[in-house]
Amino acid sequence: MGTKTKSDNHSHIIYDSIQSMVDSARSKAFDSISITEHISQFAEPRDKIEFGSVHTKGRIFSNIEEYLLEFRNIPTKIPTVNKGLEVDYIRRVSQEIAKYVNERGWDVLLLSVHELSDGIDVEDTSRPQDKESSERRWVQYIELQKEGLQNDLIPFDVLTHPVRLGRSSHKLPGNLDELLIELAEVARKEDRALELNGNDLTRDYKLVEKLAQACSAGGCKVSFGSDAHHPSEVGRGYEKALELVNRYGLKQLTLPQR
Ligand SMILES: [Zn+2]
Ligand SMILES: [Zn+2]
Repeated sequence: MGTKTKSDNHSHIIYDSIQSMVDSARSKAFDSISITEHISQFAEPRDKIEFGSVHTKGRIFSNIEEYLLEFRNIPTKIPTVNKGLEVDYIRRVSQEIAKYVNERGWDVLLLSVHELSDGIDVEDTSRPQDKESSERRWVQYIELQKEGLQNDLIPFDVLTHPVRLGRSSHKLPGNLDELLIELAEVARKEDRALELNGNDLTRDYKLVEKLAQACSAGGCKVSFGSDAHHPSEVGRGYEKALELVNRYGLKQLTLPQR
């Protein structure tokens, strides 16, 4: 993201081919695209671990080898295609998940909190919506994300969609700005980027704007990721993210060469 390189660091290939995602990135003049499939779309962890948040449809990869074969058939230099994963942070099974992820080296790893500690999906709208319950979930969500940022089990680069809880919990705590700054400070200390998520940017702009302000105050890097599940979604929200980066003088993630 920014003047030098235009990167989309978060996308999926469970519904559409990797070639169609890469072609879309090229047509939108991206210099790089990261393919970051959910760890819960792999047969082994999916069978062994009870994920609170999974896609009920879409491709399941039998193993990492099968996934990596996808990348071998992409004869392209531009955009650069990064091999990555989106990895759930779930405290009780974090060792098990890390073991699976760390079997290989990756160009990019994303860490995501998709469920609260009761195992319920952060996007589950059937939760109680009174002010107290909603605020309590926000406090718990930010704490869990701080904990995720501080865990060293996998060498991840980015904490994804840090305000995704907004989908299920509309009543925001009065001190949300401070909570987000605390999150950004932990991210800075741990040298991880917080994501400006394209899906959230298009659906929940105000919350992502709050996050961007917190990243500025807390001094952490940001990473743009469209979270595309279809070619048409590649790069979505990029202009909005770039505008926030420029307005708040945010530092952007550059992926290490591995
Ligand atoms: Zn996610
Ligand atoms: Zn995703």
